[in-house]
Order: sequence, then structure tokens, then C-alpha cells
Amino acid sequence: MKDFHSFLSDLRAECPRDVLTVSDPVDDPFVPNAMASELDRLERPPLLVFEDFCGGDMPFVTNVFASRDRLAWAIGTTRDRFHNVVNERMQHPLPPTVVEAGPASESVRTGDAVDVAELPAIQHFEQDAGRYFTAAIVVAKDPDTGVRNLSYHRLQIKGPNRLGASLHSRGHLWDYFLRAEEAGRDLECAVVLGAHPAIMLAAAARMAMDEDEYDFAGALLGEPVELQRCVTVDVEVPSTSEIVLEGKLAVGVREDEGPFGEYTGYATGRSTRNVIEVSAITRRLDSIYVDNVAGHLGDHLVLGRAAKEAYVWRRLREVYPHVSAINYPSSGTHYHCYVSFKKTAEGQVNHLLSLLFSLDNYVKTAVVVDDDINVFDEGQVMWAMATRMQPDRDLLVIPNFICNRLDPSSRDGIGAKLGIDATTPEGWAFQRATLPEASLVLARDLLRRHS
Ligand code: MN
Repeated sequence: MKDFHSFLSDLRAECPRDVLTVSDPVDDPFVPNAMASELDRLERPPLLVFEDFCGGDMPFVTNVFASRDRLAWAIGTTRDRFHNVVNERMQHPLPPTVVEAGPASESVRTGDAVDVAELPAIQHFEQDAGRYFTAAIVVAKDPDTGVRNLSYHRLQIKGPNRLGASLHSRGHLWDYFLRAEEAGRDLECAVVLGAHPAIMLAAAARMAMDEDEYDFAGALLGEPVELQRCVTVDVEVPSTSEIVLEGKLAVGVREDEGPFGEYTGYATGRSTRNVIEVSAITRRLDSIYVDNVAGHLGDHLVLGRAAKEAYVWRRLREVYPHVSAINYPSSGTHYHCYVSFKKTAEGQVNHLLSLLFSLDNYVKTAVVVDDDINVFDEGQVMWAMATRMQPDRDLLVIPNFICNRLDPSSRDGIGAKLGIDATTPEGWAFQRATLPEASLVLARDLLRRHS
């Protein structure tokens, strides 16, 4: 069965250079993020394992999603095929199975024995209000239909059994919570800390409200997710989870939460100010603590956008089958998007841009390029803008549009959209200067042998 343990041991065996293991004792809690920040410049930043971290009793792992190649490898594909494969699997959901009990509950603590502060969660940035669980998948059930939801929320440690939560994405969990609150009932939930990256990726996906993210997780994993019931709440979690926090989102309770260094690169105290009361901690005896570096760093940005990119790519291709690739570059957090396609008529670019803004209201600036441009190479996109775009002809500005509230430049969640048409205009007569492919092959070979 695939779980975080098997993922890590397979990665070590098959891609040893993709894991950086720090065996020296590290007592500075900011070091994992500082290392991830230094590594972010690499094409393929390694996953980080701290074996002896801040006196904790388990390995501390982070930067799992910082590399697109590693994420693709984790679901059995390659970077080039990623969007295709994610969509194929999304269309073939694989429902989970339920077992009596698995390793996730080898150790069970309830009542006064619960102390979330014993777990090696760290403070990620200097401005943060405290220690946060950042790779925390919150699992809950729709209070009316019972459909499960998996989603990420930053969770601040506030006491032995108290977590501050922001349901800031205003997604399905937020909707569940409002309905539970209206009915005057707490919303039971479980927090999964550490699962196979396929499950972690599914939890970041955008799906319809009546779809269970575990079904998609199974499809991504290539086998049904094996679930077990929680000990103190009516919620199911993967039976091989590293650590599980059980509890409830308290109704009628709001408390300050944050500030926290968000994906925008800024610390923010904007929060839905929810509270989770923890009733149990269950874990494997050999548990690994899985963190996400948070902030404006690759691990956080790739996890946040990978499944969304795949979704937007598929929807755009329903209208324009010649959309070849899309990329949300890290430089633009989740607010910039580059799209390449083969234009067949004038006017299509503005149509494509409006589709994109409608599908994802986080996108603020979108650049559309021809399909000879590699949207994953930001330099090529800038070159297309420099040579194929004229601002008086090729810009589309849409005012007063909903956007993400965490954009510091927005007016409380209202902003404008900028579409940039960097495709060649009709009647374009210029040819790219190129080199013969055979000469490039020869040159690469010579460089390899002379370096
Ligand atoms: Mn959902």
C-alpha cells in the first residue's frame, strides 16, 4: 500500500539526489524554511529531511512539493504529461475502502493526554503569530449530504487542544461550517498530517461540492485510499496517515488568528478566525512529521497551483483545443498565468482571457503567447511580450472583478484584471532566428564532454 513512508523510501531508492537528509542536530526552527528558500533557485529543489530537529521524537520533512518533477514522479508520470494525467484520473474517480484500523492509530491519546504542542510544528516566518501546522488536510462531512471534503487550512497552535484556523479560501469547508453554525451544531473534523503526496495533491484540487476528494485521491494514487474511522469523531482518515488530529470546528466561536506568512510573500492577519477543539491525537509509532514551507516558496506555491492548473488547462481546452500549455509562474504567486495556444482567428485571445479570468478569480495578470513559446520558461514569455505586443493594441483591462482577498493591492477582494496579448498579430512576416537541430545536438554533446 502506498503511503508517505513508501513514497519517501521509493524516492530515496530511485532518486537519491532528490532527497537532502540533514543528520546534524538542528535547533533553530527557521532553518528548514531558510534552506528551502536557498534551494528555491534550483530547477529541482530536493525534499528535506531533518533527522534530529528541535529535540523532536520524529523526523521533520518539508519541501515535498517544491519540484514539479518530483510531484509528477510521485503520481507516476512526468512533468510534461502532468496536466493530461491529472485530468484523465480526475475523470475516473476511485472510491476509498474502509478498514477496521491501520497504523494511523497505533498510538492514541485522548482527553487530558492531548497536547498538540508536543508535535514538531514550527514557526515559519519571523512575523508569524506562533507555531503552525501548514500541511494540514482538514477532513469534514457536509452537514446536509454527508459528502466528504478535504482542504488545506493553516492551523495555529493556541493550546494543548486548541487550534486557530483560517478557512480563508471560502471553499466547501467554509460552506459546511456556515450551515453547521446555522443549525447550531459543531462541525466534526479530522486533520491529516502526512499522507502520500497523491492524497495531498487531491486535497488541493478544485472539485464540485458533491464530489469526494478521496475518490480523486484514489485515482491519482492508482489504488483506492484505505480509510479508517476516527476514534472520537464520525470522520474517516487514511489508515496509513502519519499523524491525525481529531476534533471539531466550534460554532459561535471566533478568535484572532495570525499573522501568518502567506503565499503572497506577506504576513497577514486576515482570517475567518475559527477554532478547532482537539479531542484526540492518533499517530503511527514510526510517524514522520510532514510540513509545508508556506509563504512565497516553491513547496507552498506548487502544491497550491498544480491541481488548479490542470483543471483550468482542461476547461480552456474544451473551448480552445489548441491551448497547448498553461503555467502559473512562482514569481506571480497565484496571480499570474501564462497560456500558449495556436490562434486561428483574431479576437480569440480576448475570449480566452475572459474564460481564464472567469475560471480562476485569483488570476490578475494573464499573458497569452503563441505555441512556439515555452510558458514554463519565463524568459521566453517576457521575450514574446517584448517583441510581439504593443500596449495600445494588445491590453485588456477589466475593472471591478472579484479577486483573492490576500492580494495586498486589492480593495477588500475587488480588483482589476489585465490580459496581455503577446501573440503575433495577423500578417506577421518576421521569422525567428534559429539553429539547425543537428548542430544543437552536436553542441550539447561537445559541452557535456568538455565540462
Ligand atoms: Mn470539496
